Order: sequence, then structure tokens, then C-alpha cells
Amino acid sequence: MRSFDYHRPSSLPEAAKAFAAAPDTRLLAGGMTLIPAMKMRLALPTALVDLGGLAELRGIRAGREEIGIGAMVRHVDVAGSADVRRLIPALSALAGGIGDPQVRNRGTIGGSIANNDPAADYPAALLGLGATITTSKRKIAADKFFTGMFETALDAGEIILQVTFPLPAMAAYEKFRSPASRYALVGVFVAKTSSGVRVAVTGAAPGVFRATALESLLSEKFTPEALAGFRFPAEGLNADMHGDAQFRANLISVLTRRAVANLVAGGGKS
Ligand SMILES: Cc1cc2nc3c(=O)[nH]c(=O)nc-3n(C[C@H](O)[C@H](O)[C@H](O)COP(=O)(O)OP(=O)(O)OC[C@H]3O[C@@H](n4cnc5c(N)ncnc54)[C@H](O)[C@@H]3O)c2cc1C
Repeated sequence: MRSFDYHRPSSLPEAAKAFAAAPDTRLLAGGMTLIPAMKMRLALPTALVDLGGLAELRGIRAGREEIGIGAMVRHVDVAGSADVRRLIPALSALAGGIGDPQVRNRGTIGGSIANNDPAADYPAALLGLGATITTSKRKIAADKFFTGMFETALDAGEIILQVTFPLPAMAAYEKFRSPASRYALVGVFVAKTSSGVRVAVTGAAPGVFRATALESLLSEKFTPEALAGFRFPAEGLNADMHGDAQFRANLISVLTRRAVANLVAGGGKS
């Protein structure tokens, strides 16, 4: 690893100043992605700005219609939060299924969505629930946030402060994981929200996306039978040593049906 400067600001203005002080500065959250990238020399920052001292990025706030999760909240804390489990159990289960205990004890929701790995879990939840990302500059709808593989709408130095999830009528996440990394080979987040049925898919393509054909079918009838005979098209899906595009396409249909079946059987709790 190359030497670099390290800053741990305690306010947002201090963080902005530290970020601007040197070229190639990177923000640091849990370090689960950034530190290995530095070790492999895929990232060579001249300085790191550790977000751990910023109060604005902490805590989980439950409201009547939404729940706000600070960007520095770790996966283990989302999984273990009584409020998240009560209000959006699918989100709690998703966080509890990320990686392994070491990753969940360091990794944060802000780091995960800023990184926007095409196989990461949280992007599916944000898109599936129609979340809003609050940054140091503005609010961004999840539909506009994930712009491509490892790409987001964030500007350089723009800090994610919080993610706000509107409470769904019901939601479920089904993931077919890689047995080695536990990343999603395919993950499907299904939610019935005030703006209709939303289905978000991760792991299957170069970036997270909404499966609008599935949303239309489920809007007509929210049952697994509504998807009978539906085949998700394989065009444009990922093909690698873990599975070809046809396999991933089939997983999307199967996991969506499974999520809906569980929701219907469980009266909406999943
Ligand atoms: C072995 C292993 C298994 C994993 N398995 C899974 C899995 O199954 N599912 C899954 O979803 N993920 C998985 N991950 C990734 C994990 O969830 C990480 O937590 C996540 O990718 C990065 O979060 P972090 O807090 O560690 O961010 P960091 O590594 O610190 O930062 C990642 C990037 O985000 C930027 N960033 C961080 N915080 C902010 C912020 N608040 N505002 C703006 N930019 C910010 C950083 O500058 C950096 O570019 C795995 C990781 C490992 C190492």
C-alpha cells in the first residue's frame, strides 16, 4: 500500500475542507471495499477522509411513514435494529445476509450504495422501496442515484448523510448468493408501496434495475400465479463463470415468484 494522509473531521465543513486539500482524496467509511482496493493498488488515494467522526451520518430514526438510516450505520446495526425489523423486516433480513460477520461489523449502508457494486444487496432495497438519498448537497431519488456499474449520481466529495425509506405495505428480498463471496448472483426486492408494486433486481446485469414487466403483472394481480408462464428475457444480462444469462434470467422469475408467494402466505410480513 502506498503512503497517504489520514483525516478524521468532526464536522461537514471540516470534511469538505479536508477533501479539497489534496487531489485524489477518497472518503472512508467501513473500508471493506476501499482498503482491499488500496492494498491491491486499484485505488491510490493521496489522502483519506474518515467519515466516522460525523454525527450527521449516525443513527436510525423511525417515523410514522418512513425510516431514516444514517450513512455510517453498519450492516450489523441495520440487521439488529428493532425498529427496522418491525417496520421493514425485509430490509433487516437483507442487511443480515450481507457477506460474513466481519463484513457486517465494518461495512456501512453509505459505503455500499456509494460503491454501487452491481451484485450488492442494498441498491435493490433502495430501488425497490423508492428510497431517497440525502447528501451534503441535495436529496436524490433512488431511481436517479444508481447510474451504472460502480457509478452513481454523486459528485466528487459529495457525502451521503442518510437514506430514507418510505414504509411499504409489504416487502420481501430473495437472494441467490455466491457461496464464496455471499454477493448476489441474483437478488430480487419486491415491494407493495403507496406508488404501486416495485421490483428491483441486483446481480443480474451491469447495474441494479427495475423489472417493469414484472411490476405490471404484479400490479394486476399480486399472486405468484400472476407470473405463471412469464420468462424474463436473457438479453443484456451478465454471463460469467458463476452462471450464464439464461440462468440469471430464470433466477429473476423464480426469486420474484418466491418473494410474492412468501408475502401472500405470510400476510405481508417478510
Ligand atoms: C468478503 C466480502 C464480502 C462481501 N459480501 C457482500 C454481500 O454479500 N453483499 C453486499 O451488498 N456487499 C458485500 N460486500 C461489500 C460490503 O457490503 C461493503 O460494506 C461495502 O461495499 C462498502 O462499504 P464500506 O462502508 O466498507 O465502504 P468503504 O469501503 O469505506 O467505501 C466504499 C466506497 O464508498 C465511498 N463512500 C463511503 N461512504 C460514503 C459516504 N457516506 N458518502 C459518499 N461516499 C462514500 C468511499 O469513498 C468508497 O469509494 C462484501 C465485502 C467483502 C469484503
